[in-house]
Amino acid sequence: MTAQESGFDLLASFLRIQGFRAVDVELREWPTRQDPKRRVKVVVLEDERGFHVCPDCGRRHEEPWWRQTEPLRFRDCSMGDWETYLELYPCRVACCGGTRRERFPFEMPGHRMTRRFFERVAALCTRLPIYEVAAMAHLSWDTVCRIDKQAIELALGGRELSLDGLRWIGVDEVSRTGGHVYFTIVTDLESGRVVYIGDGKGDKGLRPFLERLGKRGRRRIRLTASDLGYLPLLAREFPKATHVLDRFHIVQWLNEALNTLRRRLFGGAPQDRAGRTLKVKKWLLLSGRERLEHKNKLVLARLMRLNRPLYRAYLLKEEMRGILHHPWRYFGALRRNLHAWYQSAVRCRLPEMQKVARRLKPYFDNIVAGYEQRLRMGLMESINSKIAALRGAARGYRDREYFKLKIFQRCSLPHNPWARIVL
Ligand SMILES: [Zn+2]
Repeated sequence: MTAQESGFDLLASFLRIQGFRAVDVELREWPTRQDPKRRVKVVVLEDERGFHVCPDCGRRHEEPWWRQTEPLRFRDCSMGDWETYLELYPCRVACCGGTRRERFPFEMPGHRMTRRFFERVAALCTRLPIYEVAAMAHLSWDTVCRIDKQAIELALGGRELSLDGLRWIGVDEVSRTGGHVYFTIVTDLESGRVVYIGDGKGDKGLRPFLERLGKRGRRRIRLTASDLGYLPLLAREFPKATHVLDRFHIVQWLNEALNTLRRRLFGGAPQDRAGRTLKVKKWLLLSGRERLEHKNKLVLARLMRLNRPLYRAYLLKEEMRGILHHPWRYFGALRRNLHAWYQSAVRCRLPEMQKVARRLKPYFDNIVAGYEQRLRMGLMESINSKIAALRGAARGYRDREYFKLKIFQRCSLPHNPWARIVL
């Protein structure tokens, strides 16, 4: 007895689509301009369910209005080495004040592809750049982009996240292109999720968020963490909250000051060896000392011997980093350390460092507040670097809304929403 006679349809069980029978599998020539020898596999299906579903209301119709003479093809996961399509003749049903093309249970609405194919492409998009996925899936850049966008929106349940129950927020700005175009990012510091992304920076970027939060939402905010660009604004909008100056930004400032100093000392064409090395290896100065390899520590030490002022500034930066990274329990000691740092910074006779120190001084209380509240400190830094990685992978997003969705995907959704998918 063959598989056919026993009523067991091998192909159907392989396809795993209930209610449809595979009547034929063809290998067709389907040339495109890029690939004149392109061949695809087409599985011809027959509907055995005996009813047709209206795409709008979902009602079942036993009698179709008519059967279309043109077949529809849905891209499916590949069988063997070929792109695979499911082909069938759909019916039109009279429903919802007109005629509609019936909806199949396996199709992804809005796309000529099966749901499972859509999900696999979306899964790849969580980790790979669009053009890589497009090449793997033999799809156009735009199609993959559309799939990714829709998948993220489905996972988020819309384009905007709920702001209910928000108590601790972190506010920061990131650039979309590495300059000029900015987003304002609001993070829920308790859950670690990005909850809002506004266009522009400063007041302009934050205003819609404040409006969406409403009066009651604003009263619930107990703590904000941000850099100096937002701190005065947040202090005005949330007068009763604690305002924390995020330590990540303080280190950023010190790095900027160090860089300006380096440029001043070794400006123009490098004169000597130290200058040349520094021009090439400015990251030596900017990365934390504990992250450097031994070899690089030696290079740094040599550079520093050659240039006392730079060494002084470098030490000031590392000292502040040391203070900020210490898990302080006794805030008096933290305060004493900050003041001692301030004293040595204003006495160092380097205007760049003095400027940062003077700018920081009025906000020492805002730094201490972060430790008092036991704020998770690395959070804003990690979100910032995740966004930088996203920007790098896509070489700057041209599409503003898409970049926002990608940020939500990386910073608000669970790590792998497609865990059940098997490739
Ligand atoms: Zn209907």
